[in-house]
Amino acid sequence: MEKRELLYEGKAKQVYATVDPDLVIQYFKDDATAFNAQKRGTIVNKGRYNNAISASLFRYLEEHGVPTHFVRTLSEREMLVRRLEIIPVEVVVRNVIAGSLAKRLGLSEGRELPRPILEHYYKNDALGDPLINPWHITVLGFASEGELEEINRRALQVNDSLRTFLQPRGLILVDFKLEFGRFQGRLLLADEISPDTCRFWDAASGEKLDKDRFRFDLGNVESAYAEVHRRICGVA
Ligand code: UDP
Repeated sequence: MEKRELLYEGKAKQVYATVDPDLVIQYFKDDATAFNAQKRGTIVNKGRYNNAISASLFRYLEEHGVPTHFVRTLSEREMLVRRLEIIPVEVVVRNVIAGSLAKRLGLSEGRELPRPILEHYYKNDALGDPLINPWHITVLGFASEGELEEINRRALQVNDSLRTFLQPRGLILVDFKLEFGRFQGRLLLADEISPDTCRFWDAASGEKLDKDRFRFDLGNVESAYAEVHRRICGVA
């Protein structure tokens, strides 16, 4: 499938048109940003790892009843996906206290939650993706009541499925961010699922194997992405 014009360029990906108006190509870059793009850098081969990891996880989720935008892998850095109308809400699912939850509520990182917490953020870079609640989403018209109900149900289903998949691979799913979009009257899971958008901790050592290594200059950033890729995609 041939790449046509660049439709959108984000922090970690580019989106290209194709001949088919219903399909676009996601190209995964090595660029990394953190703290609302105040910190910028490159993680060598991140684009290759995130493309492969996302493809494996989207395939697994589809097989387990979660509709996604994923169509097929095109190359080391490209996947073909359905062209959606993105809902401007980022859904965060948390299983273990970390990141902004720990900071905002003054909690120490690492405590396992008795059940998952769902959070919603307004997808708006200029505003730094502010935390919002279901009232903002429905009253301001970001999504309908029905869509929000489906988004929340799907997010929890994704959490259950991913935890089941990751557990035998020795990875703890601490938290992650999802995006959804509308396609021909259906709600599809969009974007990517990777160490950029998830916190993965090694089950045995508790070592962080995700973008926190970049955010906090913990070192061994590339090798953490490579390790997650090895465990999820099953290659050395
Ligand atoms: N996350 C993301 N994109 C964002 C914000 C968060 O992918 O714009 C992911 C992040 O990698 C983590 C989860 O969502 O896995 C929860 O992030 P948190 O709210 O703790 O914010 P952070 O401290 O990562 O900024």
